This record gives sequence, C-alpha cells and structure tokens, in this order.
Amino acid sequence: MTVAPESFLLFAGPLPEPMLLLSGSGLVLALNQACEERFGVDALKCRGKRLACMVVEPPDEIARYLLLSSRSRQVVLGGMTVRGRDEIACRAQGSAVSPKTAGSDAVIMLRLVPKQTAAGQFLALNLRIEELAREIRRRKHAEQLAIEHAERLQTTLASIGDGVITTDTDGRITSINWVAESLTGWTAEQASGLPLTRVFIVVNETTLQPVENPVQRALKLGNVVGLANHTMLIARDGAVWPIDHSAAPIRKADGGIIGCVLVFRDVTERRRSEQQLDEAVRFYHSSIDALTSHIAVLDENGVILEVNHGWRDFAERYDFAGFDCAVGVNYVTVCETSSNECADDRSIAAGLRDVLAGRMPLFELEYPCHSPKEERWFLMRASRFKSPGPVRVVVSHDDVTQRRAAQERLRASNMRLFSVLQLSPAGIVQADVAGRMTLVNDRWCQMLGYSEAELLGKNIIEVTHPTSVTPTLDAVGRLAAGGADFQILKTYSRKDGSVLSAQSNVAAVRSPQGEYEGLIAVVLDITERLRIEEELRRIASELSDADRRKDEFLATLAHELRNPLAPIRNGLELLRLAGGNLNTVEGVRKLIERQLNQMVRLVDDLMDVSRISTGRLQLRKERVVLASVVQSAVETSRPLIEAMGHVLTIELPGQALDIEVDPVRLAQVLLNLLNNAAKYSERNGRIWLTAVQHGSEVAVAVRDAGIGIPTDQLDRVFDMFAQVERALDKSQGGLGIGLCLVKRIVELHGGRVEAHSQGVGTGSEFIVWLPLLVDASVLHGRAERLQEADTPQRILVVDDSRDIADSLASMLRLLGNETCTAYDGEEAIAAADAFRPDVVILDIGLPKLNGYEACLRIRDLDQGKSMVIIAQSGWGQETDRRRTSEAGFDHHLVKPVDPEALMRLLRSKHSDLAPESRSS
Ligand code: ADP
Repeated sequence: MTVAPESFLLFAGPLPEPMLLLSGSGLVLALNQACEERFGVDALKCRGKRLACMVVEPPDEIARYLLLSSRSRQVVLGGMTVRGRDEIACRAQGSAVSPKTAGSDAVIMLRLVPKQTAAGQFLALNLRIEELAREIRRRKHAEQLAIEHAERLQTTLASIGDGVITTDTDGRITSINWVAESLTGWTAEQASGLPLTRVFIVVNETTLQPVENPVQRALKLGNVVGLANHTMLIARDGAVWPIDHSAAPIRKADGGIIGCVLVFRDVTERRRSEQQLDEAVRFYHSSIDALTSHIAVLDENGVILEVNHGWRDFAERYDFAGFDCAVGVNYVTVCETSSNECADDRSIAAGLRDVLAGRMPLFELEYPCHSPKEERWFLMRASRFKSPGPVRVVVSHDDVTQRRAAQERLRASNMRLFSVLQLSPAGIVQADVAGRMTLVNDRWCQMLGYSEAELLGKNIIEVTHPTSVTPTLDAVGRLAAGGADFQILKTYSRKDGSVLSAQSNVAAVRSPQGEYEGLIAVVLDITERLRIEEELRRIASELSDADRRKDEFLATLAHELRNPLAPIRNGLELLRLAGGNLNTVEGVRKLIERQLNQMVRLVDDLMDVSRISTGRLQLRKERVVLASVVQSAVETSRPLIEAMGHVLTIELPGQALDIEVDPVRLAQVLLNLLNNAAKYSERNGRIWLTAVQHGSEVAVAVRDAGIGIPTDQLDRVFDMFAQVERALDKSQGGLGIGLCLVKRIVELHGGRVEAHSQGVGTGSEFIVWLPLLVDASVLHGRAERLQEADTPQRILVVDDSRDIADSLASMLRLLGNETCTAYDGEEAIAAADAFRPDVVILDIGLPKLNGYEACLRIRDLDQGKSMVIIAQSGWGQETDRRRTSEAGFDHHLVKPVDPEALMRLLRSKHSDLAPESRSS
C-alpha cells in the first residue's frame, strides 16, 4: 500500500513532532506543519528536494540510513542535523510505509525529534500551546461550518416556493420560512415558540370544518402524513388560501424524533386551472351534445367510451336497427355483425379498423339509409385523436340528405346551364384575372377554328386581332378597376389566319367582396350583319339615287307634257281667228296632229314602263323577217331624221333573217335608238343602221357620229329616268325612259343590248343582240296586206265622247267611207240594226249598255255576225284584249286610236278580218 502525500498530511498535519514523507531514494514527498515551524523551512520549496540537501551529514550516510529504513517495518533509529533557520541536531525515527517494488520506489516516514532537552521541554510547552491553538482553530472552523450550514439551510428554505415550518417535539414552532410567513401572516419572530396550531389553522374546503393538524398527526404516527387535498389555510388576517400540505417527523442520527417539519403550498393557481379544466370538460360535453352530429368516442379496441346526445337520441329513436350502441359496446364488432341493409356497415367496420390501427388518420363514407317514408343520406367519419395519450377515435354520423339534395339541384342546374352554354348561337368564353380562358363553349371554338383543348389556358389577347388589342386591353383594364360591363366591336384572328368581326358583350366576375376575378364574354359573329348593313347602305344609296332620278323625271315629265299644250292652245286660237281660211286650218291641223302624236308617244312610253315594271307587258311574238321590222322603224323615224338633216345609211344582209319577235315592240326598240341617234347629233349628222348575223344571233347596231356619251355614264344610260347631264339641251322631249324600255323589251325577247362610246364628241353605238330562228319559212307579212287597195266601207262609230265619235267619223268620211255615229250602247244597237255597217268601231265604257254587251247584242242581229267589230279602249292589256275577244269583238285598238293603224286595219279587213274567216 502506498501513502499519498495528502493522506500523510491529513494525519501528520496536526501532530506536534516534525515529520517527513520520503521516497526510498531520499526525495522529500511531504512534510508537516511542525517541520516548517520547528526548522523554519518552506514545505513547498522542500517538496521534491533531496533530504541530503536539508541536512549536514554526508549524502551517502543519509542514503544508507534511508535504505535501512526502507526495508524495515520497525522504526530504525538514527540521527541527523537539520539545516534550516538554524542547525538543529535531531534523533531520527524512520520506517517504511511501503516497501520498494518492481514498479515503484519505497516510501519512508521519518520522524525527527530535536536532541536538546531544555529546548525540548520548552519546545514541548510550545507545542502544547500550539496544539491548543490548533484545537481552538479547529473548533472555530467547525462552528463556522455549522453556521454556514445553517445559513445554507435558511437560504434554501427561504428560496423554495413552499411554506416550511419546523417544530420541536411539542409542536412548538422552531423555524418558519418567508413563504410560510406570508401565507400565515405571522413573522418568524412572532411565530417562533408558539404552538403550530395557533399559527397554522386549516379547514376543509367544502365543509369549512377544522381538519386535524398534520404536525400532531406526524408526531403521533412517527411517519410522513401525506398530502391532504382541498384544505384551506386561514391566515392571521383572515385571508383564506387553498393549500396542499404534508408533515414529516425530524429524526436524529440514532432515529429519535427531535421535531417535525411541515411543508405546504398555495394551490390557488392549480385550483383555478382545475376549475378551468373542469369547465372546459363541461363545455366540451355541452358542445358535443348541442351538435346535430351523432358522435361517439372509441378506445383503442373500438369500445364506445362516450357518446353525445345526438348519438343517444338516434340510438333510442331508431334502435340502430336493433343493435345496442351504448357506452361499453364494441362498435366495430357491432358494425361487423350488422345485418342492417341500410348502412354500409361492413365498409364502416373496415374503415374503423384502419383508423384504430393507425393505417389512416381519417375515414369517411357517405352512405344511403332510406326509410320507407324518406330518402336519407349520412356521412360517417372516423378520426384519431392527435395526442400522446392512449389511442382514441372519434366517430360521427351526419345527416347530409339536404346537402345532397342541394348538390343534386346544383348539378341539374349546372347541366341546364351547360346545355344553354352549348346551344347558344353566341360564342361564350370565361377568362381569369390574367385573361387566360378557363371555359369555352362549342360555338366559340367553331368561330375561331380551335379545339377546346387548344383554347383553354390561352390568353384572349392571343386570339385578338392586332388592331383590336389596344382597345380590348383598355376596356378590360377599366373593367378590372371596377368599371361597368361593356360592349365592344372588335376583330379576332382565327386559327387559319382569317379575321372574325364580332360584337363582344363583356361582364366582370367579382368575388362577394367585389374583387375582380375575371370576365365572361358573349361573342356574336357579326360578319353577316356587317355585310347586310353594307348591302342596305348600298340599296339605300341606290334608292336615293332612283328617288332623285324620279324627281328629275317628274320635273321633266311636267315639262314634256306642257310643251305640246302651248302650240295646241295657239293653234285653237289661230283657228278661231282664221275663220274659213283653209290653208290656215290645214296648217293648224298638222301642228295639232304633231303635238298630239308627241303627247301620245310620251303617254305610251309611260304606260309601257309601268307595264314592264309590274311585269304586265305581254309580247305578241310572231315569226317575221328582220328587214320588215327595220323598215317599219325607219319609216316612223324618218320625219325626225330628215328634219334634222341627217343622212341615214342602212346595211342589211342579203338573205332574209328570220326572228320570232313582237314586231311592234321590236320596231319600237329600233325607233327609240334611231330617234336618239337623231336627237343626240348635231344637225346634218350621220346615222348608220346595220344588221350582221353572228352564228345563231343577229346584231342590229344603230350608230351615230353625234355628241357621244361619257364612258363613266355608259353603264347607267339604261337605268330608268337616266339622262346624261350634257345631253339635256339636245333631249328634244325625252323622259329618260326610252333606253330603259329598249333594254327591258330586248331582254323579254331573250336578247341583250350594249351601249358603246369613246366619250364626249365621239359618237355612240347601241347594239341589239337577238336570237335568230334557224328554220325560216315564208313570211306572210302584214306589210303586204297594208299594200292592198282601199275599198269604201260603211262604218258605225260609237263613243260617249261626242268629240271623239264625231271627229273619227269625219276623218273616215274624208277617206271615202260612209259613216254613222252613236253615243251610248242602246243607240249603237239601234244604229247597227238600221245602218247595217261593215265595220263597227265600238267604245267599251258606254252609258246605258257597255261595249261588251252592246257587241253581244249586235252579234245577235241578222247582219251582226258579218260585221267587223273593233273595240276602242283606254285599256290595252292582254286581259282586256281577251275580254273584248270573248265578247265577240274582232279587234282591239287602244285609245287614242292611231288613225294610220286604224287605216291599216280597215285595209286588211277583207283578207284577214272578214267575217267568213272568223271561226265563231
Ligand atoms: P331620253 O328621253 O332622255 O332620250 P333615253 O332613255 O332614250 O332618254 O336616253 C337616256 C339618255 O342617254 C339620254 O338622255 C342621253 O343623255 C343619252 N343618250 C341616248 N342615246 C344617245 C346617243 N345616241 N348619243 C348620245 N347620248 C345618248
């Protein structure tokens, strides 16, 4: 065993004799205080030095002595003189504390006793005194430790949060900490020595009855008295503290009881927390009871721990289909063994097992539970408590019938809305805040040529035509900033690059708080509308043009009708003044005849226009030779041409060209063209009429070297009432309807007409194209018949206008005929019977008996059947002609009767209209 220097000092420190601890090789390991004091050396400096350095004797002598000592357990006596403050000769008593071993040196304890006896006695006295002093120091030290210990105890007691009171075995207070002071209201000074029962008064919290003092109990029982709950401490000032307390006896080392310690604490806060917890629990129960859901809490095995009112109520009312679902029952088992057809109990059980085992945190199932009376749906949920405690699962069943019905209604409404969306003839698109399309209908996809997938997510601006981007962004910007819904006419770019013109009605989609969330646009394709509007504009412009021309026409018409009136009036005046001067009378007659013809032509033209406009112009087509029609037109036009001094050149093909036309109407066409050529040429001009066969067609051209037509007006000369401005002064009585008639009549014949001119002053050419008859047969032209010799006839003229009847009769007489007149229907029959005419010219609108009836009655007379009866009527339509024919008339002339036409008719009477050739 080795001795550590610390252990050496522990026991050698207080000894009065100087003692050293050395290694076997003579090194000083430690020395005690007596050494320091006796020899005047410093223990610290000596430690580690060789003993030989501290003594006078030669080192080898010292080494020998130490070797001996190191080998002996017995004290080895020796002597040496210590060199310290002085040189002091000492007796040495060395012994081995631990022998030398293989690994460590020996340790030697050396006691040195000074040799001088007197000095030794004095020294002994001194040592005694020092011993006493040391004893005193040790006691002081012990006291100091005790004080410190007591202070530590006090500090500890003071610093702990509990109240602590100690008593002696009689239960009198020996100490009290500050917490106990403040709770009891007693200071340590006041309480010290008092019986605890005076200072520490406790009562039961509920009964307020005093409870047994715990200290007395602890002293009596000799062991710890445990915490007593729900007691209250009544403080000196009457304050009441809810407290917990315990007491334990204080025992000495031998186990004897020397007092008691009481520990107690204010539990106001804890009680409050407990109360709050209690309230929370009650609140929890009230809350879950107030819920309409049926709620149960299950333990880790699925046993029902707790249920709410809803659960209990439902279980009672419906008996859970015969299953007991009360607290204590295993709900999972109930569900697994259920035969309830209504609820999907197997699925519920499986879900519950998953949640209980922690395989999933939540299980939900919506299931039907229909009763005979009503359809019901429930939502079952099972979820785990998230708590570190034992596994708990909350199960709830909610009646969701109404929600499902509402969802169903919403779904149906959505379906309807979707149908409307898809059936809408307008494109409908919804976009989010950024303008990305989130919903599009089929029509919109169709309008743009994209598929729905291509459009969804695309920005509306991407399909907006570049010209509409800025106005669209501006308008949408205003909408997003709270502006009103708007309508915009804009253009979109289709997928194929074409442009779509559209009207977009745009409305904002806003949150209930009014925040802008996007837009809905209803887009109408207005391409067709724009086209129609454009068409309408064009028609309106044309109508206004036509209207303007009509106004001009009326003015012209008034002018043209007035023109002949003045010479006629003058002529009448002349007749009155001329008396019987035959030359003057003849001159006036010619003048009036010319003017009258002019007016009749005007009125004829007007009536033709009206007939054509209303589709009532009927052609009386027959097979004729073109040359005869040309001849007829030229003859009629010749007086004007000659009056103007024009030279007319006619060039017709050698062979006869057969056409099937209404000869009167075609002659009218050519007459119009010839008259125009004459009218719109300076005097002594040139006019050419040519006819050239082109395959199956013949082109009849009337050309002049006259004033010409501005090329930009060529298209409109055929319009109704159209007159070229510069030509007006040359119009010589025209209404701007001649060419219109020409065109319509030619078209009715299946032909066409063209106007050509190089411009003003270059002359004009009008070409009429007509289809030719391929197989021409011999013509029996009326022209030949017109050549027949005149034969005097007996003619009855009937008209209610005496002027007309008398003037016509006079004219016929002048031509060598025998005449008779009548002025109403009855007179006519009588005259026919008495006069026996060859020809009767009979007006239709007659007094007493109208023309139709008069005709029928005349036919009934003996000679009536052989008479030629000619109707003269203001009406010349086909229906009028048919009617007169049906009434027995042979021919129909339109008033005012053209004498020449009448003459031609009378001349042809024998060959064409003789009664024997009539079928009836
Ligand atoms: P109008 O009664 O005015 O002659 P038309 O219908 O016959 O009516 O002709 C229409 C217009 O065409 C005339 O007013 C005239 O300006 C122009 N026109 C017709 N024929 C000729 C022509 N041969 N040379 C020049 N202008 C002509």
